[in-house]
Amino acid sequence: MLELHGVSKRFGDTVAVDRVTLSFKPGEMVGVIGRSGAGKSTLLRLVNRLTEPDEGRILWNGEDVTRLRNGDLRRWRRRCAMIFQHFNLCPRLDVITNVLVGVAAERPTGATLFKMFSASDRAQAILELDALDMAAAALQRAGTLSGGQQQRVAIARAMMQDPEVLLADEPVAALDPINAEVVMDTLARICRERRVPVLVNLHSLEIARTYCTRVVAMARGAVVFDGPPQGLTPQVVDRVYGKSARSLEPVVVEVAA
Ligand code: ADP
Repeated sequence: MLELHGVSKRFGDTVAVDRVTLSFKPGEMVGVIGRSGAGKSTLLRLVNRLTEPDEGRILWNGEDVTRLRNGDLRRWRRRCAMIFQHFNLCPRLDVITNVLVGVAAERPTGATLFKMFSASDRAQAILELDALDMAAAALQRAGTLSGGQQQRVAIARAMMQDPEVLLADEPVAALDPINAEVVMDTLARICRERRVPVLVNLHSLEIARTYCTRVVAMARGAVVFDGPPQGLTPQVVDRVYGKSARSLEPVVVEVAA
């Protein structure tokens, strides 16, 4: 179980994350929603310690990850893989090398420098790509792929880390609707099959409703809603986004049979 206890982060006068207390179970697919600047990205970065909290503690299965240093901190970052909006692949390298980067930190520096990964690492990388229907592109340069394909490669790289927690910061914001669906389906499947908590920042309410078993809404750094997507009533949506957001919600007209 992943637990946040009274976690806060300030940048100067801005309170990006304000005394957040939350816990997440394995297999939970959690959509984090809120206006731009609400603190969603900072929340995820606090979990894998890309950002240091000013206050509070983060526990993973009882272990205080906010106290980890050096090698233990690097190991925690690997155990808690992150997927980014703009994929963060190396466009000049081929797909399989990008995926192998997921294990590079655990291999000798010389070996990774000369791309000398073991046969079993390569086999694993192909399996991870195959699970995402991307094995055929293994030798293609990553920069030649579409955005949706690049995001699938980034997910395969994350899976090479055999993560215990999966964080995704706006993973579909740069994708067209069809690719967004493929990527969200993939994250939901990983969540179910590998029983890891998945925390995914989303700016689309509809995507959160469709794919997430739980939604956490943030406003000005604080959690203003935490519950199943069915709890996102128009009143809650108003609280999260302000009145104008409601008119952006699709109107569903039920037609009598
Ligand atoms: P969101 O992901 O919901 O858009 P962020 O977590 O990126 O929100 O940002 C929350 C607040 O913290 C915003 O006001 C943002 O400008 C501020 N912030 C985030 N990162 C930094 C930083 N590295 N330096 C200064 N301010 C930051």
